[in-house]
Amino acid sequence: MDFSSKLLEQAVLEMSQLPGIGKRTALRLVLHLLKQPEMQTLQLTDALSNLRTQIKLCKNCHNISDTDLCEICANPTRVKEIVCVVEDIRDVMAIENTGQYRGLYHVLGGKISPMDGIGPSQLKIKSLIDKVREGEIEEIIFALSSTLEGDTTNFYIFKQLEGLEIKTSTIARGISVGDELEYADEVTLGRSIANRVPFESSLKS
Ligand SMILES: [Zn+2]
Repeated sequence: MDFSSKLLEQAVLEMSQLPGIGKRTALRLVLHLLKQPEMQTLQLTDALSNLRTQIKLCKNCHNISDTDLCEICANPTRVKEIVCVVEDIRDVMAIENTGQYRGLYHVLGGKISPMDGIGPSQLKIKSLIDKVREGEIEEIIFALSSTLEGDTTNFYIFKQLEGLEIKTSTIARGISVGDELEYADEVTLGRSIANRVPFESSLKS
């Protein structure tokens, strides 16, 4: 691609770093921004820049948050004894949308995936085990997607919890294998949390 402007070229290059955005699409987006009022582009760059500099991870559940303790963890009406283990904030949002869950979350930040070089130490697993050891949690609900990586991660955590006084369950599989949580509809997802089953019995099938 030949650019008549270095500034344009730089903007297109940066935009095309985004997933699913090729050079052509990047050029279209950048030209679109140029046609919009200047304020609109500045609001976009401000939002992105604030996102990077001000966003935090909740110190309790590792969810993305504006404050040290996220709104869910800080809410006194939430049931602190039940913790739902999820991959990332998209799963938290999907489960929150069901309106069926009143416990807290623990966001792992991914799934164990040797193919992608992601091992247990790169995920927030140790802090979960530590929380269980402290004895304030009564039940852990595994709500990772039922992919090979999700199952591997569940099982790894389950093994780490052996010998600790804790009830473990997994969301009922109304969600078919391979479906990602965020794509499950709210009714199905809500029902699968309400009808969760003991984790051990999910291993036999
Ligand atoms: Zn939190």
